[in-house]
Amino acid sequence: MFSDKIGIFLDRDGTIIEDRGYLSDPEGVCLRPGVKEVLKQLKAQQCLLFLVTNQSGINRGFFTMKEVQACHQRMLDLLEEDENFFTQFCIATGRPEDNDPYRKPSPKFILECLAKYHLNPDKCWMIGDRQTDVQAGINAHIHTIFLSQTERLHEATACCKNFYEVLDTLERYGVLSKLDKKD
Ligand SMILES: [Mg+2]
Repeated sequence: MFSDKIGIFLDRDGTIIEDRGYLSDPEGVCLRPGVKEVLKQLKAQQCLLFLVTNQSGINRGFFTMKEVQACHQRMLDLLEEDENFFTQFCIATGRPEDNDPYRKPSPKFILECLAKYHLNPDKCWMIGDRQTDVQAGINAHIHTIFLSQTERLHEATACCKNFYEVLDTLERYGVLSKLDKKD
């Protein structure tokens, strides 16, 4: 029996925050345009938010899990939210050559969250700025949004230039009820 909640799986770098490449300093965390407003609207509609990120910098020895967590705390501070804002932080630490079973495009984190929270794959979306994000979503049999100002990806369910378009897309697909954006 599925929950009627909607699951939104979000890549971190280049999606929620600016992609600084192997970010370890919380001062380098910068939310991308529209993220704060749109994620709050999704939460208000009872969506469960999951952060799914590849952080191979940990296994490369560039930074520690503690530093990644400090960056996540900074991200939450900028969102003006606490750690409960995201249902789960899914962090893959392996390098491509490590065969990390959780590293995107592996769907393992997504599949585990679907099972743990009894989510209907048909009511779940993966949003990210890389082909590997979309592929992870496809591999988990959920819907996908490819986020890019300039490129499109034919295999994604939808392509969006920014987070405002993400909200419009989720409304168009009937995931969310029409929101009053004036309020
Ligand atoms: Mg990314």
